[in-house]
Amino acid sequence: MTPLVAPHIEAVKPYVPGKPVEELERELGIRGAVKLASNENPLGPSPKALDAIARAANEIHRYPDAHAHALRVRLAAHHRIAPGELAFGCGSNELIDLVVRTFAGPSDHAVIGAPSFVCYGMSLRVANVPVTEVPLRHALYWDLDAMHAALRPNTKLVFLDNPNNPTSTHIARSALEAFLRALPASVIPVIDEAYFEFADASDYASALEMRKLHDRLVVLRTFSKAHGLAALRAGYAVASEAMVGYLDRVRAPFNVGTLAQVAALASLDDAEHLARYIALNQRERVRVSAALSAHGLSVAPSQANFLCVGLGRPAAPVYERLLRAGVIVRPFGPPLEKHLRISIGLPAENDRLLAALPQALASA
Ligand SMILES: *Cc1c(COP(=O)(O)O)cnc(C)c1O
Repeated sequence: MTPLVAPHIEAVKPYVPGKPVEELERELGIRGAVKLASNENPLGPSPKALDAIARAANEIHRYPDAHAHALRVRLAAHHRIAPGELAFGCGSNELIDLVVRTFAGPSDHAVIGAPSFVCYGMSLRVANVPVTEVPLRHALYWDLDAMHAALRPNTKLVFLDNPNNPTSTHIARSALEAFLRALPASVIPVIDEAYFEFADASDYASALEMRKLHDRLVVLRTFSKAHGLAALRAGYAVASEAMVGYLDRVRAPFNVGTLAQVAALASLDDAEHLARYIALNQRERVRVSAALSAHGLSVAPSQANFLCVGLGRPAAPVYERLLRAGVIVRPFGPPLEKHLRISIGLPAENDRLLAALPQALASA
């Protein structure tokens, strides 16, 4: 009998999400577990977004606006771009997949970093696009020279995550500019800025400022992280109108729901709420980094809302012991098997982590 799926589908490993709080509490029979595993906004969404959802709730028997007109116009003004330069997705995750399916196939080639966001490799493998994984320096810092060296004549896509998940580190403006300038015109650079709002280094710059450097540049943003709308699934891409036109041909109709559209729009109008979270994250990022360093752990310089923490020993047992203490963080496979990714939460949640850590490390 012919196999149910092709070998390239057989080889795909399913995405492993951060463990939900409810699941851990059920397993351990405990209450009050904290989740610092999925880089979510611990303050929750803007009250304006919640109001907008409540107002729109009695319209959900109607299909959503397939072109997200109101959100599109608002975002175009926000970024000073044409409305036609925006594509929307069910989370930026869908856009990653859409970019791959729209622009690449088995005869093309793609370059990604390792470790970087796992979904790039997953989408590419599902689409049967050959992939070169370029190691980050010390598994933590982007090596754009090596990324450039990995290009082939048929390379169609390069994914860069800036700041990078799971390492929290960023690419300096000058390095990214030089990379884009040197990139052949045929390659599509996809710069994923899911953590853009948290970056405050003086040498960090959004690729939206570099659109003149490459015609095929695609920049991805999401409402899941800083805006605290992860459950609604809203993200967008900024690209040329021609590229957006092709993405529109491939995407499913109505891929972004009404509640996601209205909440995203309202969230953009609540700059104060966003600023409050960014400030909290910045403060706690410094405080938690210092406390972890004082435990002798090596904390990568973070430009995001999470830390990549080197333990100097296998991380899995420490992860397990933190779970039993009711603290959910995120372990990774090689080359980060000695690291944990720890989201920055509310001060009390971060305190729970810091309180549980000495014992989790001691028994290792
Ligand atoms: C969280 C994340 C995303 C996307 O999230 P969506 O919820 O699908 O918008 C994209 N890229 C990176 C690097 C992320 O960490």
